Amino acid sequence: MERINKLEQLARLLESSMNQRREAREKADAYIDDFLQNLPQMHGYSTGRLEKLESFQIEEGGKSIDSILDVLASEVDRIGINPASGRHLGYIPGGGLWASSIGDQLAAITNRYAGIAFSSPGAVKIEDHVIKWMVSVIGYPDNAYGNLTSGGSTANLIAIKAARDHRKINSGNITKAVIYMTEQVHHCVHKAIHTTGLHEAELHLIPMNGKFQMDADELETQVLEDDSNGLAPFLVIASAGTTDTGAIDPLDRIGSVCEKLKIWFHVDVAYGGFFMLVDSMKKKLKGIERSDSIVLDPHKTMFIPFGSGAVLLRDRNILLASNSYRANYMKDTFDVEEINPADTGIELSRHNRSLRMWLPLQLYGIGPLRAALEEKLLLCEYFDKQIRRLGFETAVSPELSISVFRWPADKDNSVNQRLIALVHSDGRVFLSSTVIDGRLWLRCAIICHRTHRFEIDLALQMISEKIDEALSSQPSPYE
Ligand SMILES: *Cc1c(COP(=O)(O)O)cnc(C)c1O
Repeated sequence: MERINKLEQLARLLESSMNQRREAREKADAYIDDFLQNLPQMHGYSTGRLEKLESFQIEEGGKSIDSILDVLASEVDRIGINPASGRHLGYIPGGGLWASSIGDQLAAITNRYAGIAFSSPGAVKIEDHVIKWMVSVIGYPDNAYGNLTSGGSTANLIAIKAARDHRKINSGNITKAVIYMTEQVHHCVHKAIHTTGLHEAELHLIPMNGKFQMDADELETQVLEDDSNGLAPFLVIASAGTTDTGAIDPLDRIGSVCEKLKIWFHVDVAYGGFFMLVDSMKKKLKGIERSDSIVLDPHKTMFIPFGSGAVLLRDRNILLASNSYRANYMKDTFDVEEINPADTGIELSRHNRSLRMWLPLQLYGIGPLRAALEEKLLLCEYFDKQIRRLGFETAVSPELSISVFRWPADKDNSVNQRLIALVHSDGRVFLSSTVIDGRLWLRCAIICHRTHRFEIDLALQMISEKIDEALSSQPSPYE
């Protein structure tokens, strides 16, 4: 008893008093206000050395909230790429809606168990509303359903696994099964194929047209040829848009090929999916509703902080069949009508993930989200026009909000390599680069909700300064 009492005293330190909580919260609030106030002026990319963190070890006793916030401010939130910034124009940014943090905080404090309807019918209902909203955005039928994941990689894994399970691909038939995609498919799709054991199937890369889109005629030819050769065309993985250039595969045509031969049609719209909210994009994405499964990334084009992906299947029964398990210790939860998130994905215990999406949707409505997405499309058109005026060539005319450009007549890529190094060492705006067919390209991905006209003009001004420097053949800071 003495030991219990002593341990209780120490254990109770895990629950701060109301005053201590208030003090910590006020300091964290001040930190947040400072961060958000300064964000518009902060660089998109900064280098720096981690010094304090090295000695800031985890110890038996605790530290003050001031010292913790101090090390975060100087070494975590100021070094590297700044994903919250509207000046982050590399890879696929997203920004992170401030209001999601309220959802995350409430979810963490109340800690509702959102995996099982029996334990929190309300939390599961909120997730249900978010999923059904996404189903309606995509134009799937009412029987469609999905799962909120940690990101696009897990979402692709769930979709590809469901396809495998439904089509009963196993060790007896896998070497005859064929998967089709282009070489521009996101690398997490390859990871999912490996994780599900499908790397033992045949993988056929379908050629692309000049706009990096899957050639649907080639797909049809391949599929028919494979079929007549005794193989089993099983899965087509299309993208809208691709990570490199934002290319949208011809979904409607691919849908027809898949329907004809009963091939599972999966579309990775991790980046492009929410553009369905913009009227002008619905035509370009037409055919998405014919797919069997899709992947969306709310932490990209819905501007939710990292940690939010989604998978949707046209037929909820296939999703449930692939993910429902029963265990005796869960028997109290069996008799509930509602769909358990644990039965539509691979996670069991998880935080109440839907709050970070549902809360901003409720607080702002869909209107500002729709407007922000259309703004990004138009900003990209504007950037693309201006960058060509500066003398750059572009890979394609942008279909979504990524512009891919390079200084022309640079056979050995040295000018463009110098340019990206100079852009990185300046850091006011962050851009990334990629290699397509052996040539180095710079990318300007306009996705963050905080990217507006000012940031695009700043990027153009910076690129114009840096290309002059690169052409005056100064050695790159990386050389
Ligand atoms: C970002 C992205 C992914 C990977 O998603 P994560 O959320 O990073 O796991 C997959 N596919 C496409 C097209 C993407 O843009």
